[in-house]
Amino acid sequence: RRLEEQLEHSTRLAELGEMAAAISHELNQPLTGIRNYARNAFYMLDQGVGSEEEVKGNLRLIADQVDRAARIINEMRELTRRSERHFTRLDFNGVVRESVEFLLPQMKLSGVEVELSLAPDLPDTWGDRIRLAQVFLNLLNNARQAMEDARNRRLTISSSWDPCTGLVRVEVRDTGKGFSEEDGRKLFVPFFTTKKSGLGTGLGLSISKNIVKDHGGTIEAAGSPGKGATFAVVLPGAREEGEQGQ
Ligand code: ADP
Repeated sequence: RRLEEQLEHSTRLAELGEMAAAISHELNQPLTGIRNYARNAFYMLDQGVGSEEEVKGNLRLIADQVDRAARIINEMRELTRRSERHFTRLDFNGVVRESVEFLLPQMKLSGVEVELSLAPDLPDTWGDRIRLAQVFLNLLNNARQAMEDARNRRLTISSSWDPCTGLVRVEVRDTGKGFSEEDGRKLFVPFFTTKKSGLGTGLGLSISKNIVKDHGGTIEAAGSPGKGATFAVVLPGAREEGEQGQ
């Protein structure tokens, strides 16, 4: 038992070490940018070279990098936050529908055709409405971005449930660029991103995974290059009225 505890402790320390290395790497990028742009601006003013526009351009880039660092820190906080949970009995289809409706204008702008196919008899679930919506917003946004260069842009969101296990499943399927087997193994690793620099922090899916895990559920991804991706969120359904399913 003691050995087990020691092992768990050292695993956690190793994870913490990896995480710390990843965080310093991520924050170093904007910091290096800020230093370079600040030096540029200083040099131009000091030597009286470069136009006012060029100096302003450097200052703007500094502000962008500060925003990026702040975003990384905020999302990091999100990744480790556990305490503020507001669990209630939820109409899971409702959460999915709200998230989709929230992003519909953006989907339209991006030329994405949206199909919603929700099981009418889906059992309720127990959960934090806002945090679960955050999971779907993230999956839907990722899907939209993955389809940016696709000719056929179709997003299918479906829900279903298994009466034997009582598990409720929501799938978000897109016709985007998909991912390689190697990338598929890293999707949920903090800071893994293939998005153009500055666009992604690589924290969305790790945050989503934590939220779903906190709900006693799982999140899976399937896909292949050029053939789109499917992300599935599986949660335990709530039991009969009055009996807490968690
Ligand atoms: P970010 O969106 O900031 O990159 P995420 O953790 O949300 O961070 O996603 C990590 C990576 O997973 C993305 O950069 C992308 O490579 C991949 N990914 C996520 N969703 C999809 C999708 N629907 N299709 C293809 N790749 C995806």
